[in-house]
Amino acid sequence: MRALLQEQESIAGIGGAYSDEILHVAKLSPVAHAVDLSDDDRDRLFGAVVDVLREAAEARRGIVPSRQKAAKVDAMRVHGRTGEPCPVCGGSVHDVPGSTGAAQYCPTCQTGGVPLPE
Ligand SMILES: [Zn+2]
Repeated sequence: MRALLQEQESIAGIGGAYSDEILHVAKLSPVAHAVDLSDDDRDRLFGAVVDVLREAAEARRGIVPSRQKAAKVDAMRVHGRTGEPCPVCGGSVHDVPGSTGAAQYCPTCQTGGVPLPE
């Protein structure tokens, strides 16, 4: 799913950080495949895309350019928060295997409580 969100022909403009955030809100595994999504999964994914991008725009409104990056980082739920508690369930945020620390997810919220195999 992460690759689909970042592939700019389907949905333009979603980078790595917001991909992590959207999948966390949608409670979808970062390694799930689009063809395997149920109707409910797709509804949650679409809602999460809208919610996360809207929140991101609102959170950064009125913030001076020099603070924009810090404001973006502060607002992240799981992205860049390896080892920190998930704001939804309190579980530990993990790196997506193979991402070399560039992508994060919550096993409790997104992969049925089971961390993805390394
Ligand atoms: Zn969680």
